Amino acid sequence: MNEENEVIWAPEVNGVNDLTITVVYDNNPYKQGLETAWGFACLITGAEKTILFDTGGDGSILLNNMEKLATEPNSVELVVLSHIHGDHTGGLKSFLEKNSGVTVYLPKSFPIKFKDEVKGCGAKTVEVEQPLEICENVYSTGQLGKLIKEQSLIVRTNKGLVVITGCAHPGIVKIVGTAKDLLKDDILLVMGGFHLEWATKGKVEKIIAAFKKLGVCYAGPCHCSGEKARSLFEKHFGKNYIKSGAGKVIRTADLE
Ligand SMILES: [Zn+2]
Ligand SMILES: [Zn+2]
Repeated sequence: MNEENEVIWAPEVNGVNDLTITVVYDNNPYKQGLETAWGFACLITGAEKTILFDTGGDGSILLNNMEKLATEPNSVELVVLSHIHGDHTGGLKSFLEKNSGVTVYLPKSFPIKFKDEVKGCGAKTVEVEQPLEICENVYSTGQLGKLIKEQSLIVRTNKGLVVITGCAHPGIVKIVGTAKDLLKDDILLVMGGFHLEWATKGKVEKIIAAFKKLGVCYAGPCHCSGEKARSLFEKHFGKNYIKSGAGKVIRTADLE
């Protein structure tokens, strides 16, 4: 973190008052009538821009779920892709066929062919390497990790930071710690894929302890978090565990 970033990211504004996260794609069921499939995507509204974070694996499932949730593809202004895996990027092409008037924020490490295809659809691209302000109160952690490079989204709200992860390949604790270091604020909520499907109980409990140490208030693990980890988070977070899945709507205004 250099001096320049500290100045740019000083909280000159109070943070988003009423942020809404709508999970439009997930392998965990939540709302009846929505299709579930391996992958993750959520729509983020209430900040300066309307953002689609990841696109799930299948474009028709993404668009059908968005329609059922009364979320309009044309309302999306920015698309942020966490990492290259198909269960996060597979729906992009179908989405861009509906709305190509967006800017797509993608990790710089993405293949040139992928970037060219996005531009070929008429969308603008921003290649993310370092931590970055995406729009007012919305930030990228920058691409983290070695093997699979991944960016996560951070939104500053009036109640603290919201961290949204795709698969958390770089490690969920590392991501949350990075968010806290970058924005120097409390963590209200961490949600998305925590990549704990195959983790042992001991490992998950260490992660939960690290969350508590970092001051994470609410946790909403979905996608690749796994049932075992989800029930452990539920046990340890109690009423501050958010059960998430396809169709779940989280409003920060509802969080204490
Ligand atoms: Zn992945
Ligand atoms: Zn994934």
